[in-house]
Amino acid sequence: MIHDLFTPSISAPFRAPSSPAAPPVDAALALLREVFGHPAFRGAQAEIVGHLAGGGDALVLMPTGGGKSLCYQLPALLRRQQGCGPAIVVSPLIALMQDQVAALRQLGVRAAVLNSTLDARGVRETERALLEGALDLLYVAPERLVTEGFLALLDRVCAAQGVALFAIDEAHCVSQWGHDFRPEYLQLSLLHERYPQVPRIALTATADPQTRDEIIERLALQDARVFVSSFDRPNIRYTIVDKLDPRQQLLRFIRDEHPGDAGIVYCLSRRKVDETAQWLAAHGVPALPYHAGMDTATRAAHQARFQREDGLVVVATIAFGMGIDKPDVRFVAHLDLPRSVEGYYQETGRAGRDGQPADAWMAYGLADVVQQRRLIETSEADDAFKRVASAKLDALLGLAETAGCRRMRLLSYFGEASEACGNCDNCLSPPETWDATEAARKALSAIYRTGQRFGAAHLVDVLRGRSTERMSRWGHERLSVFGVGADLTENEWRGVFRQLVALDLVQVDHQAHGALRLTPASRPVLRGERTVPMRRIRERSAGARRGRSRSGATPGADSTEAGAAPDSGLLARLKAWRSSQAREQGVPAYVILHDSTLAAIAAARPESIAALGEIPGIGAKKLERYGADLLGMAGES
Ligand code: ADP
Ligand code: ZN
Repeated sequence: MIHDLFTPSISAPFRAPSSPAAPPVDAALALLREVFGHPAFRGAQAEIVGHLAGGGDALVLMPTGGGKSLCYQLPALLRRQQGCGPAIVVSPLIALMQDQVAALRQLGVRAAVLNSTLDARGVRETERALLEGALDLLYVAPERLVTEGFLALLDRVCAAQGVALFAIDEAHCVSQWGHDFRPEYLQLSLLHERYPQVPRIALTATADPQTRDEIIERLALQDARVFVSSFDRPNIRYTIVDKLDPRQQLLRFIRDEHPGDAGIVYCLSRRKVDETAQWLAAHGVPALPYHAGMDTATRAAHQARFQREDGLVVVATIAFGMGIDKPDVRFVAHLDLPRSVEGYYQETGRAGRDGQPADAWMAYGLADVVQQRRLIETSEADDAFKRVASAKLDALLGLAETAGCRRMRLLSYFGEASEACGNCDNCLSPPETWDATEAARKALSAIYRTGQRFGAAHLVDVLRGRSTERMSRWGHERLSVFGVGADLTENEWRGVFRQLVALDLVQVDHQAHGALRLTPASRPVLRGERTVPMRRIRERSAGARRGRSRSGATPGADSTEAGAAPDSGLLARLKAWRSSQAREQGVPAYVILHDSTLAAIAAARPESIAALGEIPGIGAKKLERYGADLLGMAGES
């Protein structure tokens, strides 16, 4: 029956391609269930779909994983049902287009791409299909869209069938100030000039108002309705641990919480990327490196494997990210501090696009603060830039050091008010704070008495009274501060120094190999006029093995984890089956079925086609195609 939905109604010789009346919500919901297999719309999706299907323009700002694609795919199908021609989707990323099209075809939607991966024949065939009305959605690279040849083709499609809509994905690529700027995007306003009757939707996950205004102006979307979603990602759990033995901490985190899961580990330097990937692999975690220093072919191969295979970990510099559209990344780990809250949010946002529980985990220590401060101070940039970079780093340090809810802090940075989330480390096990005023005074005094010429390692030795060769060489054993801090452990002292630096009570002198120096703000502390509360260092990261029943996961959406626990034997069989399907068809595993869908099958063990059809993520086409296989497996014991 699904085929009826898409039978092109272009048999009628002429039609008015202009906006049809908004279809009833029921039609949209029916399509959502029938084709996509989702039981309900998420957030503003229903409204956006209705607005677009009724012929309106829209600008959609939604976080990664919010469900943007559906906002144009569904209205495209709705308008198609009402007699319109295909929808045209502009997307800057070839790999993403390919995967989107593969996913749509799995749903029985007639989708195709026109980009540089096609040979001349492929291009001809796709163009023919387009003209014959045999396509529901066409994905086009921006540089092709703006060619005279393609526009002539569009003119013909417009005259004969009408275009259902234009979708402009990753719309922030019009922003000349952003790092994803694509010059061809600037020409996309021609769509409006040339085809004013065709509704347009621009989509982005970039939150800041400046970019929003640029998109509106550059794409001539002044009359568009703007849909701003909350940028919260409730299914992501934020955890920032004290960096003690980072590799071991990372390994423990992966083994305890994410065995067999796909994840990304970010490091600052290429060398550290290589070393960490090797080390993880040697310890049984399938890990691949990715950075700009690798040759293009290997890099592309690693990215493709990550995208397609199950359970790989990529260790990468921030060169890795744009173009990663894998919905089932279960964790993003940072072994080094990002430069800003924006960077942190963008990178961690790659976890859990499918709405299932995911982790953003970071190990953070004194050396990170020192390193980032040095990068800023020693950069070639002008003072204004350095001031901005410094402020951005401070905001990130504030996030790392806070004893309050991480999510509140993150969202408030983006101008969104919220309440304590219950799904971050600080909410789950509130850190102990202590009055560190006395310790801070001792630390500041140690800096002062040693002449402001030493780094934290030596200062900790002084405070703890360790007799080292350096100690006697400098005569520091005779100082009054020598040994006054034996009551704190080495890690605790490092935590004190880190927080002093983060609080700007201590400065790092990069001209003098990272020597710590006092700042004007140190004085009131030394004089006992200012108290210094600090969080207590955790020797072992809290919440180890927290179990899988996560309360904070995606309220109201995809809550397939609730209810019965999945049958792990069945789940393993389903995954193996999915891998072989994916290999056979040459598509990523998640395109066949999502993790959440497999988990739901393993939990529900459906015994009939009808029961299987109730599982979120199984639409009519997938039921028809895979139903028998899945029931067979669910029936085995
Ligand atoms: P974005 O492009 O905003 O990052 P996607 O469009 O890739 O997000 O969607 C993210 C995930 O959410 C996909 O796995 C998609 O199948 C799923 N999804 C989208 N809308 C719904 C919905 N209404 N119900 C359930 N899952 C949905
Ligand atoms: Zn919280």
